[in-house]
Amino acid sequence: KKITIAIDGFSSTGKSTLAKQLASYLGYVYVDTGAMYRAIALFAMQNGYITAESFDKESLINSLTAIRLQFRYNPELGFAEMYLNDVNVEKEIRTIEVSSFVSKVATIAEVRAKLVEQQQEMGKDKGIVMDGRDIGTVVFPDAELKIFMTSSASTRAQRRYDELIQKGDDVTYEEVLKNVEERDYIDTHRDNSPLVLAEDAIEIDNSHLTRDEQFDIVLGLVDE
Ligand code: C5P
Repeated sequence: KKITIAIDGFSSTGKSTLAKQLASYLGYVYVDTGAMYRAIALFAMQNGYITAESFDKESLINSLTAIRLQFRYNPELGFAEMYLNDVNVEKEIRTIEVSSFVSKVATIAEVRAKLVEQQQEMGKDKGIVMDGRDIGTVVFPDAELKIFMTSSASTRAQRRYDELIQKGDDVTYEEVLKNVEERDYIDTHRDNSPLVLAEDAIEIDNSHLTRDEQFDIVLGLVDE
């Protein structure tokens, strides 16, 4: 029997790594909901609705119907890439600039309603691993398995920093740490679906776990 697996937690806790491993092992579909929020933030940037100085929420809300998000599977990479109005934006949505705006965009109720609806549609057939901040609480409150991942802010910033440097991004560790802490704060303090531990979620602190150890622990919790 296929199940729904919800993985929530703070930024850069390795949620997507775990979710991808689980999905490929179980033959499930993996959905990275952060990519959807990031694509909306990118759209807002491209249209000048959000800058370092200002955020025109009204205009973004009014143009939400013009935003079409799709995941298209790339067999060479082994995972799905994000398309914003038919353009592959997988690379652009991972920059530090998008990261600095995305949590503000994710506070808007209309943005969340649009994405939650699309996510629920994607998961209606089970056999799905979805990662985000509100999956076990809002998107799939009935998910059979809910994981809440944590690790220290410095561990997370170091991981993210290593990733960005490897991709050739020009960032400092301090910038990345500041971004991780800012997103943690906004994500846990917003009015709409703040990041909280679902009652029935299992919390896993992976500060001192390897990828494989973490995978084995979670796989042991999967009861198909
Ligand atoms: O997971 P990722 O770090 O890519 O998510 C980027 C941002 O999108 C988060 O910091 C959060 O503000 C927002 N987000 C959200 N709800 C989700 C997924 C992401 O609010 N389900």
